[in-house]
Amino acid sequence: MKFNHKLNILFIAIIGISLSCNKTSNSPTPITPVVPQKQVNIIVLMGDGMGIPQITASWHEHDFLNLQRFPYSGLTLTHTVDKIVTESGAGATALFTGVKTKYGYQGMGPQGQNLESLYDYVKSEKYSTGIVTTSFLADATLAALYRHGNDRYQFEDIALDFYHNFADFTIAGGQDHFDNRSDQINLIDSLKSKGVNVFYGNQAIANAQHLPAIGFMDPLRPPYLTEGRSDFLKTGSLKALELFNDKSFFLLVEGALVDLAGHDESIENQVSETLEFDEVAGLMLDYAKQNDNTLVVVVSDHESGALTILQGDGMNYIPNYAIDEHSGGMVPVFAYGPGAENFTGLMDNSDVYYKIKQIIDQNLSK
Ligand SMILES: [Zn+2]
Repeated sequence: MKFNHKLNILFIAIIGISLSCNKTSNSPTPITPVVPQKQVNIIVLMGDGMGIPQITASWHEHDFLNLQRFPYSGLTLTHTVDKIVTESGAGATALFTGVKTKYGYQGMGPQGQNLESLYDYVKSEKYSTGIVTTSFLADATLAALYRHGNDRYQFEDIALDFYHNFADFTIAGGQDHFDNRSDQINLIDSLKSKGVNVFYGNQAIANAQHLPAIGFMDPLRPPYLTEGRSDFLKTGSLKALELFNDKSFFLLVEGALVDLAGHDESIENQVSETLEFDEVAGLMLDYAKQNDNTLVVVVSDHESGALTILQGDGMNYIPNYAIDEHSGGMVPVFAYGPGAENFTGLMDNSDVYYKIKQIIDQNLSK
């Protein structure tokens, strides 16, 4: 039965091809305009520490999430080669290099080998690159893009690595790692001497006119939204799209403090940070709907807090944190755009890299 069904499909497909071939051969030779293949833009949204419980709690607070507008979704495993429960450096290394590595490594394989990240790869293909994060720039998730290291707490070294491999557009905290360093080197002056437009604070984002550009939003880690953080995750992400201006790009948008709120066991902050991240995911999705050569992938490195949603009074829930650390459960992935259909089912975090790279490679301009 199954075999016959396959045969029928094959038969129809052959008829189809043969008909279309006949049509072509019988018509006059068409003048085919040379249309360059359009490269695929990549927007990765990383909800750091955003597992299914954080998304569930946020949905109940808001009754709607932009994440539900994504047509494809799946689950990713998160373990490292040496631990069941990961951290951001190893998680992001798997997602962005395709190699599962040791706990605490960034852009480095388990044998200590340097790994090429998607960020490095698209740079070599002349893409523009962007990083917008609510964390500090030398934090581990971002370091997995531009660095090869095994100590995520060497922030000044990591800032130096960023200087040597900077993005075209960056919005982040962590200015102190660049111009308030123990070695007295002023990396902001160094970046300026390379022609980078450096600015400070959310208000200045609107005035950014050209690339490369870096906007520092805080001397170290920006505060929670509930502590008064401005909406630079949103304004920075939209500005990135504006300045990339139709050139192929890779943009990482990180909602970093969902994780911190898990360490703090704060449901209020986990929900508000997740909802802001979701809002930006919706804006990036809107962009992709207008620009059909754009793949948007929403990922997470791990869950934070081992949060469970317990029954409260009626439709109220009681958040229960089992630990002020990460947990080892699977986390969701959502996708829209060319190749989005590949992000379904159960996959390893390292598979995300290959699925993104495949769609980039299929559409590279020759
Ligand atoms: Zn964490």
